[in-house]
Order: sequence, then structure tokens, then C-alpha cells
Amino acid sequence: MYSKCGELGDARKVFNEMPERNVVSWSGMIFGYAQLGENEEALRLFKRAVVEGVDVNDFTCSSVIHVCGNMTLLELGKQIHGLCLKKSYDSSSFVGSGLVSLYSKCGIIEGAYRVFDEVPIKNVGMWNAMLLACAQHAHTGKALDLFHQMQNAGTKPNFITFLSMLYACSHAGLVTEGQYYFDLMKKCGIEPGDQHYATLVDLLGRAGKLKEALKVIEEMPIQPTESVWGALLTGCRLHGNTELAAYAADRVFELGDVGSGLFMLLCNAYAAAGRLEDAAKARKMLRDRGVKKETGLSWVEEGNRVHTFAAGDRRHPKSEEIYQKLEELGSDMERAGYVADTSYVLQQMDDDTKKQAIRYHSERLAIAFGLISFPPERPIRIMKNLRICGDCHTAIKFMSKCTGRAIIVRDNSRFHRFENGKCSCGDYW
Ligand SMILES: [Zn+2]
Ligand SMILES: [Zn+2]
Repeated sequence: MYSKCGELGDARKVFNEMPERNVVSWSGMIFGYAQLGENEEALRLFKRAVVEGVDVNDFTCSSVIHVCGNMTLLELGKQIHGLCLKKSYDSSSFVGSGLVSLYSKCGIIEGAYRVFDEVPIKNVGMWNAMLLACAQHAHTGKALDLFHQMQNAGTKPNFITFLSMLYACSHAGLVTEGQYYFDLMKKCGIEPGDQHYATLVDLLGRAGKLKEALKVIEEMPIQPTESVWGALLTGCRLHGNTELAAYAADRVFELGDVGSGLFMLLCNAYAAAGRLEDAAKARKMLRDRGVKKETGLSWVEEGNRVHTFAAGDRRHPKSEEIYQKLEELGSDMERAGYVADTSYVLQQMDDDTKKQAIRYHSERLAIAFGLISFPPERPIRIMKNLRICGDCHTAIKFMSKCTGRAIIVRDNSRFHRFENGKCSCGDYW
């Protein structure tokens, strides 16, 4: 609707100067901000609309539910869900799909299922939201099942449906099924995009079928993007194929503009293949361009407040207790057999400093906050903007075992539910 911030700014001016605003003008503004990812402004306007007694409609609610999902604001989302129930908007597919992804993004897959089951007539967006939720929560069997149901209900799968199916298969390592959906997609007359290819290559690569993965790339009718090569690089690293990794790294460099996320993968690929000069060149490029890694942040919701942590962060008012909790827990974990794996620390530093650095990764601070703040029966839900590192993944397993708590972490691609020393992803992530 509003492609540029400028247009939205103009619309806002008109909106501000309106002598009388109706629900349509409020909805339009809120939707505009939500579309542009201006989440806070969308929420501010929504709250104002409610205070001013505007009779918000299902369209307004669905915009705000999407915002809550993106910001993982579960409490506010639940309140709006309650409002929708009161106004009977909950049977609308648009509100429903927003609620499904809200609950899923907040780690409550049961809530997503409940909403999904209660919406009588499901549009393709509703099915897609549910399928993606299943993929992210590793409910793979359920995803395959729902796909069948969707077809039986006469709803045609689209571009996004197939992407969700490929994600589901890739997260569970189902090669045959993944290939099946990829072929079915083409049979349905939908051209796969680069994300579909990247997911298929990821699936094949992780399963060790590197030759097949390379063949898929070579036969792509569109130019393979960085994410496609990145998927191959990941497979190569997992299966120790240094030669193919270096080949993939060369192709990425040919593309020109390399994203910061891939640089370490490239350096490591060259270094492992013994091409130290190229590794140094890649590192220098990284330095010259000043490509910075995105700061890792983890956050946890407590009532209507969100507490955010960066690695080694000491700004939180409860900092002292948080660090003390981690110290105590650290000793328990070591007694239970946890050994820190510092190979995940990229910077050059001595072993002790590395151990310290990894011990205070942002998700661990957020979990410690949950441990000291929440009642014991309440699962601890953490959101993280980057992928969990291998050592934190191991550490959180031990944390769940030593404390008897359920810990749910959403990283940038999926959910991990840690319980009694195990993770729902089965270490496949
Ligand atoms: Zn970590
Ligand atoms: Zn996991």
C-alpha cells in the first residue's frame, strides 16, 4: 500500500489534519506502519485508537496482531486475541492467520493449533501460516499431514506453501520428501525462487548428498544467489568436503557483493582447503569493508515488559543476580558433565577469556533472568535474532537438566525446546 516512507509521511500529515477520523482512516495508518516494519508507531496508533473509542475492525486487529508477532509480544497479542473473540473477528481467516503466526513466533505451537482448528473456512494464508509454524517447531509429520488436508479441502498450494514444506523437510532431514515437494511445485506450474533452491541445496548438503546439491545449482534456470551457495558451503563444512567448499567460495566471490554473514564461512572454507592466501584475502576484505557482524541479542518477555540482553551485558538492573545465577548454574552444569567448546569463539584470545566470553552469550543472560524471575512451573521463552551457537545449544541442554525447567529458544530460523537435557530439534539445526 505504502511503498515508501515518504508516502506514508504524507498520509500521516493528512491523517493528523483530518477534523474527524473514522475507523477506515485509523486502520489505513496502522496498516501502513505495520507494512513498513514501523512496529512501535503502529502499536502507538492502535493504543490511541482504542483510547479514543474508535470501534476497531478486523482489518485493524489483524495488522496489530502481525506487529505483535514480529515483536514477539505475547501478552499484548493475547489481549488483542481476547478483543477479537469478543467482537467475533476470530473466525476471519486474516485475523486467524495472524494469530497462528503470533503464537508460533512466541513459541506456543499449541495456541497456534487451537486457533487454526477454530477457523471454519481457511484461506491459503491461513494454511501457510500453520505449515510454517509446523516447520519451525519441527512438527514435520503434522506439516505433511496438513498439506494433504489442504489439498483435500481444495485449496491450491502457492509459492509460500512450498517454501514451508521445503523448510519442514530440511529441518527434519527428509530428502525424498523434500525432493517430492520441489518436483510437485514445478508440476503445479510454480517456478521455484532462489529460496526454494537454497532450501533444497541445504537439505541435500546436510544429508551429505553434496554432488546432488551441486547438480541442482548447476541446473538452476536462474542465477544462483549467495544464499544458495551459502547452503552448499554449510553442507561442505558439515561433511568435511574442503575442495567443493573452496569451489563454492570462489563462486560467491564472483558474485561480487558478499554479505557479512557469509564471510566467516568463506574464510574457513579457504583455510580448510589449505588456500591460506585466499583466506587472508577474504579476511582483509572483511576488515577493509568494515563489515560488522550483526550484534547478537536475546530477549524475554515478563508481563508487558521486554528485557533485552547482548553478550556480556551488565546494564540490566538485576545484572548482579543474573551473573550470580549463571555462576552457580555453571558449577552444577560442569558436575553434570558440561565442557565448554570454545571453538565457536571467532576472536583471537586465550582459552580462559574465550570460556568467559562464551559463558555470557546473550541467550544465557536471558535464561538466567527467567530463572530468577519466573515461577518454577513456567517455561522460559527466549527470542534471539541470530542462530544459537553450538556451545550454547549444549549448555542450554544442561541448564534444562540441572534446573528441571522447560526452556524454549527461538533463533533466527527455528525453535528449540529444551527439556530434561534434550532439545526438540534433535541437534539438527
Ligand atoms: Zn552462544
Ligand atoms: Zn535445538
